[in-house]
Amino acid sequence: MSETTQARLLDGKATALAVREDVARGVERLLAAGGPRPGLAVVLAGEDPASRVYVRNKDRAAEQAGFDVRSVMLPQDTTQARLEEVVRELALDAGVHGILVQLPLPAQLDARPVIDSILPPEKDVDGLTPTNVAALVLGRDGLEPCTPAGCIELLDRHGIDLSGQHMVIVGRSMLVGKPLAQLALARNATVTVCHSRTRDLPARCREADVLVAAVGRARLVQGDWVRPGAVVLDVGINRGEDGKLVGDVDFAAASERAAAITPVPGGIGPMTIAMLLANTLRAAVASSGIDPALVFSPAPQGVDG
Ligand code: NDP
Repeated sequence: MSETTQARLLDGKATALAVREDVARGVERLLAAGGPRPGLAVVLAGEDPASRVYVRNKDRAAEQAGFDVRSVMLPQDTTQARLEEVVRELALDAGVHGILVQLPLPAQLDARPVIDSILPPEKDVDGLTPTNVAALVLGRDGLEPCTPAGCIELLDRHGIDLSGQHMVIVGRSMLVGKPLAQLALARNATVTVCHSRTRDLPARCREADVLVAAVGRARLVQGDWVRPGAVVLDVGINRGEDGKLVGDVDFAAASERAAAITPVPGGIGPMTIAMLLANTLRAAVASSGIDPALVFSPAPQGVDG
């Protein structure tokens, strides 16, 4: 691809819709097979406006897919004990197949023991409990974290094969960078994970066939950090000075060099929600004992036909 060609847009919104339609079909099949209606509980502690928007979007998407949705809103000054108690109660509820605790939590709260309260880990539809993290690393069956799973699903549905490709991930969080590295390794990519101490970040980025930015700094990744012909996934969500959402990548400049790129908004964000629904359906099917083959389509439908 020449340096001036405009990148193909990896439309996360449209792809997420296709995933959500597959999930909705799965719900109908599960019910037809005598299974339960999938139940998703979303717990939000505090008043963070962005988190409220995310939770509302998740609730709406889950309802549209035919799920039972339970939103638990807790005040900003919620105690650690109260939050853990709420999660434990939800975990005991047979009608709740998946629990998501919206992160980040208010400063006085420690996320780790809250996530550990999601027992059994089969209800951990965000894929963050030690059992699911270990399953990811060991290559065993488990629930995968939604954002990295959304990155992989988006690539899959656009026919982008990771095998032998060099994926460079900027960001090493437990939520995005580290689990994405595992998922990409499992697909035979060669993976480099960068972070705030990485030397010569632009040079590392220019080595990428697939460049993923998951930092949380508006337009950190500049156009000339993108190797011509690379695929760029922008996970970052930042509020620009004008109040609009922007990613971690300078989209306009990167689009002139990349072969394909995700927009912000409308890229990885909607995919994250779609994968949450897919995980919750999987959890409901697993708890029902019904043969998964009766629920899931034989193969995912590509968006490119
Ligand atoms: P974290 O703050 O947990 O991690 C950020 C990572 O970026 C860290 O590993 C940090 O390095 C690294 N970093 C920070 N500054 C630099 C720098 N100058 N150069 C290189 N690396 C740097 O963030 P998350 O992973 O939770 O989220 C990242 C972004 O993705 C955020 O914008 C968040 O809003 C967004 N996000 C979007 C989701 C979606 O659905 N689209 C879902 C989840 C997150 P170090 O480890 O050294 O500190």
